[in-house]
Amino acid sequence: AVAESIPSLSQAANEFLKSPKQMLIDGKWVKAESGKTFDVIDPATTDVIGKAAEGDSPDVDKAVKAARKAFESGPWPNMSPADRGKLLHKVGDLILENLDILAELESLDNGKPITIARAADVPLAADMFHYMSGWCTKRHGYTIPLNVLYDPDAQYHVYTRKEPVGVVGQIIPWNFPLLMATWKLAPALTMGCTVVLKVAEETPLSAIKLGEILQEAGIPDGVVNIITGYGHTAGAHLANHGGIDKVAFTGSTEVGRKIVQASANDLKKVSLELGGKSPNIVLADADLDSAIAGAANAIFFNHGQCCAAGSRLFVQEKIYDKVIEGVAEHAKNIKLGPGLDPNTQMGPVVSKDQYQRVSEYLDIGDQEGARTLSAGTRPKDSQGYFIEPTILADAKPGMRVVEEEIFGPVVAAMPFKDLDDDLVRQANNSIYGLAAGIWTSDVSKAHKLASRLQSGSVWINCYNIFNSALPFGGYKQSGWGREMGEAVLDNYTEEKAVTIRLG
Ligand code: NAD
Repeated sequence: AVAESIPSLSQAANEFLKSPKQMLIDGKWVKAESGKTFDVIDPATTDVIGKAAEGDSPDVDKAVKAARKAFESGPWPNMSPADRGKLLHKVGDLILENLDILAELESLDNGKPITIARAADVPLAADMFHYMSGWCTKRHGYTIPLNVLYDPDAQYHVYTRKEPVGVVGQIIPWNFPLLMATWKLAPALTMGCTVVLKVAEETPLSAIKLGEILQEAGIPDGVVNIITGYGHTAGAHLANHGGIDKVAFTGSTEVGRKIVQASANDLKKVSLELGGKSPNIVLADADLDSAIAGAANAIFFNHGQCCAAGSRLFVQEKIYDKVIEGVAEHAKNIKLGPGLDPNTQMGPVVSKDQYQRVSEYLDIGDQEGARTLSAGTRPKDSQGYFIEPTILADAKPGMRVVEEEIFGPVVAAMPFKDLDDDLVRQANNSIYGLAAGIWTSDVSKAHKLASRLQSGSVWINCYNIFNSALPFGGYKQSGWGREMGEAVLDNYTEEKAVTIRLG
């Protein structure tokens, strides 16, 4: 049974929860063709808080058809860039107007603290639309002076056009449900693409609210279609679909590989934002207070459910014990509880699957001989998926907990002797290359090290700094292409060179 009203939730959010959770296809809210639904779960209590439409292949087909129609005969790709920009800016404004309800839904559905959803997830989502809206009028081509070697006497005029790639399938995860939706939608819409967005089955609520906001802003029908449903059914059908021109995916490296395989038949364009096992390096000359707080934040923010989490902590020998103890002390003071409680600093992990997965890694760390420093306390008598923030100290290269992405509040910590090749080798010794942190008061060391780390982001004396203007993405198996900044627009652009022989 679906829970009755939730006392810690506003009336508006409770009313939203009671309304049927349907999919947005061609401007209409519809049930799944099959009539099936799936349960939406509160990870803090394991209660069912709603039922969402279980979209599958026929629904994806309808959505792709609607997006194709909107791309080929709708106003969207041909709208003046200024008008498109105004609409996208309005989406950003409306996200902020709906900050309260969006933050509540995000916290309830994902488990993250409401204070974080209010301060980070929702404002960053709005910012992505505001930032991208400005690019609508600034994505223009250029002219190229040309000498044609085999036609030396003729004059040519050449210009380029940046055109939308077309109909895009986008598949997103559950760790930042609203933010991931906006990281994907805003740049695609900026370029004039139309979209079928498949949201994560764990967290459908905020994207449904976002769909209402897009309609209210006046985004034309069919430009954004939102499918709720499972990955192996709806997601796989979308990734395989011959009717889309590109697929953009964020999630696990394992599924990323399947997305690439699915694109092989028709060679549709692919961009990927995948996993990470990011090194966070503390040098002996660092300001210890900020390095310790930073190392804790790097792994415990969002319960470690961040692709960029600083999950391998390298600490210079001299200060190793102090830093480990300091991070453990931070962990001890983290207040675990339901996301909706304003005093909560760390909520439950998102789902039973993730709870089991992270718990398994804690056992593996133990078996592999890491020294476990678990801290924080689970709320008493709670059924929720709470995991204590944990440090696996004295970890060694080769351990699974050092090599594999855990995606929970668990950091593998290890000492290093000198800032030498061996440290760089260890830091780069990963199939991933998403982010890295460096803590030092020596500017030269910081820049030298930054240039040698194989990762898309390097944060020096800070961590988890995200901004719509900053390109973000991975080296190696952490992905293809970049999110945010001007760079993300390339994911949604076809560049055309037009050559004219002047008679
Ligand atoms: P996942 O990769 O399975 O799911 C991400 C999205 O892909 C969801 O929308 C899902 O429905 C969809 N999906 C799943 N299988 C698919 C398929 N065959 N074809 C098309 N779409 C498919 O991630 P998960 O199972 O939710 O989490 C597992 C692990 O993935 C985590 O523990 C973590 O290591 C990693 N992860 C990474 C990120 C990230 O931001 N890089 C986000 C979430 C999870």
